[in-house]
Amino acid sequence: MKNIQIARHNKNIKTLTVVIIGAGAAGLAAAKSLFEAGHDVTVLEANNYIGGRIKALELDRKTFVEVGASLIHHRRGPLYQRAKKNRILTSKTGRWDKTLFIVDDERISMLNILLRSRFADLFKVGKLFKGLMQYDGVDLPVSDKVCEFQFSDGFKKIFFSGLEITLGAQLENIGARSLIASLAVGQVKIDSDLIGASVSKRFSWFIQPYINAIEPCIKLNSAVSEIDYADNSQGSDGTVKIKLDNGQEYAADRVIITASLGVLKSGVINFMPSLPSKKQQAIQSLGMGQGLKAVIRFNKRLWPTKLKYILDCDQHILYMISTYHVYDFSMVAFITDEMISKKSDKQVEKIIRNSLKVVFSDSDINACLIEIMVHNWSNQKYFDGIYSYDKVGSIGCRKILAESISNKIYFAGEATIDGFFASVDGAILSGERAAQEIIGETNTISDDSVVSV
Ligand SMILES: Cc1cc2nc3c(=O)[nH]c(=O)nc-3n(C[C@H](O)[C@H](O)[C@H](O)COP(=O)(O)OP(=O)(O)OC[C@H]3O[C@@H](n4cnc5c(N)ncnc54)[C@H](O)[C@@H]3O)c2cc1C
Repeated sequence: MKNIQIARHNKNIKTLTVVIIGAGAAGLAAAKSLFEAGHDVTVLEANNYIGGRIKALELDRKTFVEVGASLIHHRRGPLYQRAKKNRILTSKTGRWDKTLFIVDDERISMLNILLRSRFADLFKVGKLFKGLMQYDGVDLPVSDKVCEFQFSDGFKKIFFSGLEITLGAQLENIGARSLIASLAVGQVKIDSDLIGASVSKRFSWFIQPYINAIEPCIKLNSAVSEIDYADNSQGSDGTVKIKLDNGQEYAADRVIITASLGVLKSGVINFMPSLPSKKQQAIQSLGMGQGLKAVIRFNKRLWPTKLKYILDCDQHILYMISTYHVYDFSMVAFITDEMISKKSDKQVEKIIRNSLKVVFSDSDINACLIEIMVHNWSNQKYFDGIYSYDKVGSIGCRKILAESISNKIYFAGEATIDGFFASVDGAILSGERAAQEIIGETNTISDDSVVSV
């Protein structure tokens, strides 16, 4: 028999009514912890599905493609540990050896690029990472720090493209000191902890246990437009009032906001009173990366079976083949470019078609292409971007973003955590952190209130 543990209400526990805004990884993780601690939890989700930036498009009954998160990025995060334990890892790192690069219209492998500089570029990367980890100077753009190392032209283009796609922003906009400070607070080592591991399951597998625990508490199509947390004035019962855009209202003792940094920046949620100026500044100082994924379906395989990625450094497009194992002739283009993200789906399609002509120089692309389906995270009101980044001048802002207000309003979500930001790991950890802050206040679930069934 399964040993399921259920937390029972202890007479000493003050049961709180907690409303969580957002049913992404952070909201789900927070909801499960609070529910199991005996609190009364409601999750309000603006969209019509659970998972937020974990989302798969179903091409047919057996075929899915991840248009949000698809790789594990932290060797020391909860996802890697669970994937390892359940033996679902299909590769432990990103495979640069199985990547084709397009640089100045030339198709080239990493080995050839490295041979051209007699491996000097590789040596410089080691020095760059080491130098960055010890960097405590002015918050210069990461691009300046990279340029100090005078990489060969081809390698520099690959390095810039790879980093910009991973970090979700142009290196000119990312602060070297802000980034390193955030990684250091999270105790994440840039040269050894960050990976790009793939798994044999849909990414939603990682959040399924949370969904199973609290699904009846989730209300879909419930977009929050206003949060009134005015202090206990005369006649006020001290609860927070939450208004939806359909006019419905909720009251809660505590609210956890997990909406993305993009949503917080856009002002979709009206706070009464306004958020403290320190918090508003942190929201504006951090960056929200812009981007999209596009599913590309072909009528035949145009690439060798061993190839996992194609990085078009000229167009800043990463084609991902490795993680989409069900439908053989599809791949996903990942673009994190602010300008391209503002374009219409038709214009994005055109950019991808032109890139594919260079990538598959010997093929008649139009004859092989079935369709391109663009999923643009930047034009979606309840995301407004892909993930947060450490903009120049944003040292310490994630911590401020995570701070609660008046023991009533709590913040979680990938942007609110140092080190593990921009990942599902970070979202889960931040949700659990916010829940623990609330549980810590109420304090008294004793061990004898936990029973096994
Ligand atoms: C294209 C892409 C690729 C990525 N790749 C990876 C990867 O490979 N590995 C990785 O670990 N991470 C990756 N990430 C990042 C990862 O997906 C996110 O960090 C994580 O899923 C964020 O979870 P969250 O709960 O913080 O936010 P979200 O998933 O955004 O959840 C917040 C929820 O709040 C809802 N919401 C917003 N506003 C309101 C409102 N007013 N009222 C009610 N609900 C609201 C939203 O609809 C959403 O469901 C990727 C993200 C994208 C977009």
